[in-house]
Amino acid sequence: MSDSSRVVQENRDYTLFSWSVQNQLQPIHMTGGRGSHFFDGDGNTWLDFSAQLINLNIGHQHPQVLEAIKRQVDQLCFAGPSFATEPRGQLGRKLAEVTGLAKSFFTLGGAEANENAMKIARLYTGRDKIITRYRSYHGATMGAMTASGDPRRWPVEPGIPGIVRVFDPYCYRCPFGKTPDSCGRECVTHIEEVIQMEGPHSIAAIMVEGITGSNGLLVPPDDYYPRLRALCDKYGILLIDDEVMSGFGRTGTWLATQHYGIKPDIVTCAKGLTSGYMPLGAVIVSEDIAQFFESHMLFGGLTYSGHPVSCAAAVANLAVYEQENVFAHVLELGEHLAARLEAMRARYACVGDVRCKGLFSVLELVRDKASKEPLAPFNGSSPEMGLLAGHLKSRHLYAFSRFNMLWVCPPLVITREELDHGLNVIEEALARVDQALLP
Ligand code: PLP
Repeated sequence: MSDSSRVVQENRDYTLFSWSVQNQLQPIHMTGGRGSHFFDGDGNTWLDFSAQLINLNIGHQHPQVLEAIKRQVDQLCFAGPSFATEPRGQLGRKLAEVTGLAKSFFTLGGAEANENAMKIARLYTGRDKIITRYRSYHGATMGAMTASGDPRRWPVEPGIPGIVRVFDPYCYRCPFGKTPDSCGRECVTHIEEVIQMEGPHSIAAIMVEGITGSNGLLVPPDDYYPRLRALCDKYGILLIDDEVMSGFGRTGTWLATQHYGIKPDIVTCAKGLTSGYMPLGAVIVSEDIAQFFESHMLFGGLTYSGHPVSCAAAVANLAVYEQENVFAHVLELGEHLAARLEAMRARYACVGDVRCKGLFSVLELVRDKASKEPLAPFNGSSPEMGLLAGHLKSRHLYAFSRFNMLWVCPPLVITREELDHGLNVIEEALARVDQALLP
């Protein structure tokens, strides 16, 4: 047995992998990485078009972040959550600066951030219900999973009480049967009707992903957020912006909602906050909410809240974004990516729609452009999607696909040449799918 096979076997024998039927797993043995590439135990180099779980924004092994982690480890590895530390304060100040909000509560990841955001919204408003969207993912803990509209919530149902779901700004398959010409922004106006039916006095918050990620990368119309913000203000409802996936440069700004000129009341983040170098999430709250907790108990805590090594990694990671002009690079390369995806939509019969904001993008695949029949059913797969994934794997391109969609979300530091190489491999796969679909 090769050394790599032994590692995989030990992982398989003694650990459980997430979101998997264990006997169908074929984990890759990762041995190292540099920038947008990682290496496997069989000596292959993979180009990562998924930035791992859309979190490795600055790529593997950035020396500045490694150095900051090492420095903090030598200085002080752990301080309990009731202690003040240098990196915790520095990070809180930086997050207030880049979001325009006031104070941060630190967690270990995105799900915990959303759990605490919902709790804070309930404490602050004295109301119970949280409105979320069907095509959404907010994490895998019980409350965050219930808040998600994604089918991954089905096994935990009925979950926590008080979640009310609404439809999404999904223009390619508008849930209201509208086209851009006939649209009256029913994706927002129906939310007002839901608020009326539920009782405005009972709704603490509307929680939405800045730009929906793992449920199809739904880029909203430009006036969606201003309208949603106005709706929240009208009824005294808090707007919770889950930027776990779409934040921290993924779309070329600190928060995806900053493209639309609005300010949420609460922002949750994780992933790109440290680029995955250390586990960390944050709930960032407005001045009003921060003031509320000056005289009210914050009923919440985590042993590892404000972990000094995680905070030091985040401070260094955010500095890399600024010093290396990463967001400007994302905006520039994002235009190139959008143009190439549009060309694929024109060229391949199986590409029904493409959606792109910065380096956050998806191809939605269909059997037939006219009928828009998905290449795989909702919550399912198909031989053609298997063919596509198999081809990418054979060319050592690591990319995330789900149902009838393929995501292109590389590390934000990817070069144009690397991006073009991966896109060329995707084009090879699309040509094969088109071939397979021929009558
Ligand atoms: N929110 C969004 C939008 C996400 O995409 C994710 C994870 O993919 C989460 C929350 C959960 O984050 P975590 O896996 O760090 O708990």
